[in-house]
Amino acid sequence: MHKIAVLTSGGDAPGMNAAIRAVVRSALAKKASVVGVRNGYAGLIAGNLTPLGARDVGGIIQHGGTMLGSARCPEFETEDGRLKALRTLHQHDIDGLVVIGGNGSQAGSHALSEMDYPVVGVASTIDNDLYGSEITLGVDTALNIALEATDRLKVTAASHQRAFLIQVMGRNCGYLALNVGIAAGAEAIVIPEVESSPEDVAREVRQAYRRGKTHALVVVAEGAEYNAPRLEQFFHENRKRLGFDLRVTILGHVQRGGAPSSADRLLASRLGGAAAQQLIDGERGVLVGQIGGKVATTPLAEVVAKTKELDPWVWELAQVLAR
Ligand code: ADP
Repeated sequence: MHKIAVLTSGGDAPGMNAAIRAVVRSALAKKASVVGVRNGYAGLIAGNLTPLGARDVGGIIQHGGTMLGSARCPEFETEDGRLKALRTLHQHDIDGLVVIGGNGSQAGSHALSEMDYPVVGVASTIDNDLYGSEITLGVDTALNIALEATDRLKVTAASHQRAFLIQVMGRNCGYLALNVGIAAGAEAIVIPEVESSPEDVAREVRQAYRRGKTHALVVVAEGAEYNAPRLEQFFHENRKRLGFDLRVTILGHVQRGGAPSSADRLLASRLGGAAAQQLIDGERGVLVGQIGGKVATTPLAEVVAKTKELDPWVWELAQVLAR
């Protein structure tokens, strides 16, 4: 393989830049050249490419986001769109592609791989909802940002003896909320994987007060059935009956924009480096992730077919530690 391309797709994650850098420098070490594709699959369809040398990826390891840009591209979900993308790759004599992205992006790389093009994915999403990697790029940084915010809220909550609710990202996956909840010492955690009504949340907060706590913190995943806006409305409408109110903070995209933590820079360097090396050595149709602390590959067919489950023991532990 003489020439490979790299793109970042879907939601941006801190560590994507470090992964691009690792792809480029690892490919160069194997005597292959690299082109960057701007704006994910949209750039592949449009032929929006830029050559990437070792110096082009200097000074980016410490930055969040992605120097190549990312995009959502519905056209790539059609066969016609993917044929246009393949045309770009063939026109520029590109022998293989590294796709840095999450669930949707890897469904895209699997679709391209099914059309007999060599693709290797890099597990990257702050949601940590990707099968084939126990941890994905951006998760550690997103957890740390959410934790800083919850720690600050706890200071205010303690001073005013109030209940606070914070909503974190994670789409349909409760991983971020569960782990922020444990690390922040939350009294209650609401995630999509576990059914929980507003009355359940109210009961948990009330019980925390009865156990002698002077304030309470509730962490909610954005994908939970009763998310922050719905819980806020419930608590507001039932304030008199419950005897307390909940102050709501929605963290949103603030969680994504941080400088990558050391853990994310190292993970991105390992996964990006391995993806380029393995693609050039002939591997194809796999996701490069981390399993058991080591770099590991999983067939993309398996990645798109399976969902990552939360560890039920960790959920139970969160309940015990909230006492
Ligand atoms: P993420 O990778 O963060 O999960 P998205 O779900 O938005 O992001 O997906 C990013 C892009 O991947 C989509 O805009 C689309 O171009 C491509 N994609 C998603 N699902 C598929 C699919 N089933 N087939 C082909 N391409 C897909």
